[in-house]
Amino acid sequence: MSFRADVITLFPELFPGPLGASVIGRGLADGLWSLQATHLREFATDRHRTVDDTPSGGGAGMVLKPDILASAIDAVSPADDPRPRLLMSPRGVPLTQARVRELAAGPGAVIVCGRFEGVDQRVMEARGLEEVSIGDYVLAGGEVAAMVLLEAVVRLIPGVLGAAESHAEESFENGLLEYPQYTRPQVFEGREIPAVLTSGDHGRIEKWRREQAESLTRARRPDLLKE
Ligand code: SAH
Repeated sequence: MSFRADVITLFPELFPGPLGASVIGRGLADGLWSLQATHLREFATDRHRTVDDTPSGGGAGMVLKPDILASAIDAVSPADDPRPRLLMSPRGVPLTQARVRELAAGPGAVIVCGRFEGVDQRVMEARGLEEVSIGDYVLAGGEVAAMVLLEAVVRLIPGVLGAAESHAEESFENGLLEYPQYTRPQVFEGREIPAVLTSGDHGRIEKWRREQAESLTRARRPDLLKE
């Protein structure tokens, strides 16, 4: 059983978008994962196919209606669906590589993309939506956030990245940022590749990389070292 992603959105034409390119797109074409984008507007019930309404209590913008969104969720995700139901939201728990790894090991995800001011609180509760944020800034909609999440998850699905592209030593996988990378030419604009990397001494190379990763993490992301 491969990873199944369902996305509920007002802009299904944005998918797969970047998720159709490169190794992620090849994985999709090869059936290593699947993606279904569902148009929220299909579940509108009135003549104007309304999906939103003004915020109760007043204020600017519009809020996605709970009944319409619930119908869309129920259509793609039955009550006994084992997949987590995520709502992309700046109020959510910030996405981490640890959560990405968990999701990649699971059966898939149902992802709701918000628009406008967001989503009626009651549908989040009624359908058990887990709010997930991709960072402390506000986007115009959840679609790009959903793509960020899916791209991070799908690249961890076995077979998506070639064997050559291992994730074992990547940033965040061991609580550290990655060490600096170099490739030929040996001299670029007067700058040499650090000699240790061309020494052929694997013990020294590993020690150097570890030290670089640690000092980089200490300088840029001391919060990672505390965890
Ligand atoms: N009024 C809301 C922001 C709405 S932005 C608030 O202040 O919390 C519109 C939609 O974009 C949201 O419903 C969400 O789906 C998406 N979005 C915006 N920023 C996001 C972020 N940092 N992470 C994930 N989704 C985000």
